[in-house]
Formats: sequence, C-alpha cells, structure tokens
Amino acid sequence: MVANENSEQTNEKLDVLESTRTVISQALEKLGYPEEVFELLKDPMRLLTVRIPIRMDDGSIKIFTGYRAQHNDSVGPTKGGVRFHPNVTETEVKALSIWMSLKAGIVDLPYGGGKGGIICDPREMSFRELEKLSRGYVRAISQIVGPTKDIPAPDVFTNSQIMAWMMDEYSRLREFDSPGFITGKPLVLGGSHGRESATAKGVTICIREAAKRKNIDIKGARVVVQGFGNAGSFLAKFMHDAGAKIVGISDAYGALHDPEGLDIDYLLDRRDSFGTVTKLFKNTISNQGLLELDCDILVPAAIENQITEQNASKVKASIVVEAANGPTTLKATEILTNRDILLVPDVLASSGGVTVSYFEWVQNNQGYYWTEEEVEKRLEDVLVNSFENVYNTSKNRKINMRLSAYMVGVRKMAEASRFRGWV
Ligand code: GLU
Repeated sequence: MVANENSEQTNEKLDVLESTRTVISQALEKLGYPEEVFELLKDPMRLLTVRIPIRMDDGSIKIFTGYRAQHNDSVGPTKGGVRFHPNVTETEVKALSIWMSLKAGIVDLPYGGGKGGIICDPREMSFRELEKLSRGYVRAISQIVGPTKDIPAPDVFTNSQIMAWMMDEYSRLREFDSPGFITGKPLVLGGSHGRESATAKGVTICIREAAKRKNIDIKGARVVVQGFGNAGSFLAKFMHDAGAKIVGISDAYGALHDPEGLDIDYLLDRRDSFGTVTKLFKNTISNQGLLELDCDILVPAAIENQITEQNASKVKASIVVEAANGPTTLKATEILTNRDILLVPDVLASSGGVTVSYFEWVQNNQGYYWTEEEVEKRLEDVLVNSFENVYNTSKNRKINMRLSAYMVGVRKMAEASRFRGWV
C-alpha cells in the first residue's frame, strides 16, 4: 500500500468509476453494441450497503459500513474480493465490481464481477475484532451471496484466515458445509494450491509475454515494484528468482532503491503481514521518486491513481504492468502509449487471482482436488492465451492494450445479456 501522494496536485479527474465507464463505452462502440448495452453495464445491477455493529476489545461499540456490489450476472454468478481499508468508498467498490466482470471476460470464466469492501483499518484491529467484523459482514450480506450467486475472495488487507471465518459463518447460517461460498481459503478448508501467489504468478506471466514483444531479456532486467502486499511481494520474489534485478520496492511509508538490486529474500523475511518493511531503513525515497526510477519494467502493485498526467512523462520503464487495480489514469495511459511504452492493463495483468479462485471453486464443487502442478499449468495456459488475445486485438485494431482488454472483457457479458433478453 502506498500513500496517495499525487492525488492533491493534479487537476485530472481521478474518479475510477468515470474512467471505467469511458473505456467501456469506447469498447462497446467499437464492438458495435447499441447505447442500451452501455446503460446496462455502466453500473452494477445490485449494490448492498450494510452497517455492522461490533463490540471492540475495550468494551465500546463501533459501527462499520460495508458494501457488496454485483455488476452483471448474465454469464454466471458474480465473483470478486472483499477489501478491508479505511479509504473504501461506494464508488470504488462499484468500479472494482465492473473490473471483476472484465477480468472474468478476459480469462473466459463463467462469472460476472462482484466486489465488497468494509471501511476499517485492520492494522489497528485485534484478531478477535477482525473475526467479529468478518462474521458480521457475512451475516449482513448472506441473502445475496452464495456458491451459485456471488462468491467473495481476498483483496486488499484480507487473507485466508478472514476467508476461513467467512466460510465458517456462511456454513453455520446455511447449516451445511459450504466451501464453494468463498475462495482464497486455507488449504485444509478446501483452498487451492497456488491461490495465494496466483495474482503474482499471473503478473509474472504477463511480464514475460510483454518482455518478449519488447525484446527485453528477463535475466538482468531492472524491475521496480510499487507495493509489497500480496501481489507485490510474491512478484518481487518470482522476478528475482527469474534472474531480474529488483532495483526498487515500496510500501505505504516509503520506498527503497538500489541500482545494484535489492536483497529480496531479506526484505521478505522482514516484512510484516501488511507488507510494511521500509520503516526499518533510513535511506528511503518517496513513492513518487520510485515511479520515476531508471528501470526496464515498472509494476504498480499498490492502489489506484498512482501514474497520472503529472508523472507519466517521467516514467523511464519500457513496460508497465498493472498488478494493482486502477493504478494508471486514462490521461496517463494516453501519455505512456504515445511514448511507445507497453502498458499491460490491470484487468488482464491481475487476472491470475480470480483464475485460480475459479479453479478453487471448481475443486470445491467437485470435491476433487488438484496438484500444484496442475493448477500452475492451467493458469499458465489461461494467461498466455489471454495475453495473446488482448495483444493481438490491440495490434490489429491499432489501439492500446487497455481498450483492447476492455473489448475482449466486455464482449461475453454483452452477448449473454442480449441472449437473456435484458437489452
Ligand atoms: N481480489 C482479487 C481481484 O481483484 C481476486 C478476486 C477473486 O479471486 O475472486 O482480482
């Protein structure tokens, strides 16, 4: 996680929902769909706001606000993570649910998009408080979720322990074991091999595919990773193991830079469960400085609106791969594209997580579990094909990869919504 330092200095509109709508509308137009399809897809079909009262450890009562958005279930049940973060807003959750629909479309899963969030700061809550909040959230949304309705998963600051509490609460409510209600569970509760590192694995595959197109050798390539959470930390490790030099990493409090390459194993060892590590060092640089470092590959793996109109012209990488949701604004996308920087968009690059979540759900439904090798092989196939599909569409249509990813991602749900007679 990183501080959103640049949001105040820019005049650019940073509303993630507005930007998403803009690109969806362009994608639908290129695909030849009429206006009513856009009207349907520009907002989630359902949004539930809940208030969850929790007795805190000190005896006081705190009321937390949470959301669950379900974008479009024409293709299948909706699916997507739940984030616990102080900056969660209704608008953000809506946009995130639309992005989940696009991801499912790009990797061709039988899902629509959903997303949830609770306004809270888990860094300041005890284990017991977090458990109560997780269970309270499930009770509050239980009517609209379920293995064939809407399947939650981890997202920012939520993990397999939180998924376990949520699964347990849902199973108790329904009075039968329901592992398929949620993904990202611990292995012993029906989790899948490879789920924890799946987002980073998917990003790694996208980096490799993008590097091939740009004739960059991963061995010795200089990589900067913004964010040291689930995606960022696994990714730094995978890239390091593949022979790349990680010259910069960051967390919410600052960034580290070493042109000779950082000692990633040491940093992973010292990071806390929220991905904080830079506090241990004196010589830190700012997150802004990090994004402008000399490197070949830049991976924003933190939060939204990091590469903007203000700093896009200072990015030195030849490839930007979005591991986070929404890190690059539309203006910045345009600037990077004009500078011939290959931008692999979030809805493609970060789709490894939901892909392995789908594998987990399939295994839960079958009651038959796969080996780690099987999961890895299937993820590899899905991501390589999806990358190729989006890349080729962008080349054939002479458009950037964000727009081509939206075209690929929106097509199936637009088609399904029409077949169902909704539009
Ligand atoms: N939260 C992750 C995402 O944004 C994963 C969602 C899932 O596994 O369903 O893609």
